[in-house]
Amino acid sequence: MAAQEKKWGNNTTFVHAGTHPDPSTGAIMTPIYQTSTYVQEAPGVNQGFEYARSQNPTRKALEEAIAMLENAKHGLVFSSGVAATDAVIKLLQVGDEVICGNDMYGGTYRLFTKIFTKLGIVFHQVNTAQVDEVRKKVNAKTRLIWIETPTNPLMNISDITAIASLAKENGIWLAVDNTFASPALQQPLLLGADIVMHSATKYLGGHSDVIQGALATNDDALREQLYFIQKSSGAVPGPMDCFLVLRGIKTLGLRMKAHCENGAVIAKWLADHPKVEKVYWPGFASHPGHAIAQKQMKGFGGMISFELKDNDPAATKKVLSSTRLFSLAESLGGVESLINHPATMTHASIPREERLRNGLSDKLIRLSVGIEDVADLIDDLSRAIG
Ligand SMILES: *Cc1c(COP(=O)(O)O)cnc(C)c1O
Repeated sequence: MAAQEKKWGNNTTFVHAGTHPDPSTGAIMTPIYQTSTYVQEAPGVNQGFEYARSQNPTRKALEEAIAMLENAKHGLVFSSGVAATDAVIKLLQVGDEVICGNDMYGGTYRLFTKIFTKLGIVFHQVNTAQVDEVRKKVNAKTRLIWIETPTNPLMNISDITAIASLAKENGIWLAVDNTFASPALQQPLLLGADIVMHSATKYLGGHSDVIQGALATNDDALREQLYFIQKSSGAVPGPMDCFLVLRGIKTLGLRMKAHCENGAVIAKWLADHPKVEKVYWPGFASHPGHAIAQKQMKGFGGMISFELKDNDPAATKKVLSSTRLFSLAESLGGVESLINHPATMTHASIPREERLRNGLSDKLIRLSVGIEDVADLIDDLSRAIG
């Protein structure tokens, strides 16, 4: 497989991205610049740092790293993933229209439908796995297409290249939430996207110890606008959090390799299990987005959703509450395995009818497969599924 060969070639970038020995001491790790302001030599004479909402050296190192990871000119980090998404939507004006997925992270759905709709931005939710459905909604007011691929939690795949060319033809921005793949597996800017968004809380941080968001772009004008929004709205991360994500990024390649390997073993094991009805994982040849995933991703990641055959909600609940290694928790992308029930946890903010319409059943169980020994993870699931 040609796609496999270039798979894990980015470790040098991951280890070195954004970090330079500290000029004042030679410290190999970028220090945590825990400061709110910077002393000026004379009024207006400074070293490029004025006030920490606008600039911070630890944050700057991380922003450089994010840019390198996504093959971008510019990176920007925010106090959370949703704050990064919020900044992108603030590029728009009243009456502007956005085409977005109908299977998105619950918090993105909530931000779009409960906050920005009220402020006059119009969102059209479609199945972005079907490029024609996206095309049908394009009109003179469309300013942005927002996609997630793979989606949370149904693991649907959208064709980034095809949607990027549709966006270009129509002078629309394409933003891709790249949280599930991480830049180790997918680099949307290289496929034509204008903006990449991350919940750095997940794979970039990788250790379930920080909440953070990130954006990357090659467009100088977009970077200026997004930086203006970042400092004006003020959703910036603290330097300690930036340090943690910088540290996490160093092992991104090793971790993603382990997540992909364990994910593949578990997806196949689940698919063969007599009590399991359906497994959602783009690595299966039978997955409708498999060919596109193979084309645009270097691996299929560690996120898997599945449903039991048993329709009794108690059966699903029993699995969710009987794993020992898989902790029952929201979030994903950390070294430890998590199990989650989207309908009552991560996606509870989406009305039930809407969830069901889009294929998110009450039976769906989502796994974030960690980097533990896969035999132990299988033992755990085996005991829980029974
Ligand atoms: C978690 C998540 C977000 C939101 O990020 P936070 O860091 O929790 O604010 C956005 N998109 C996806 C796909 C996510 O999983």
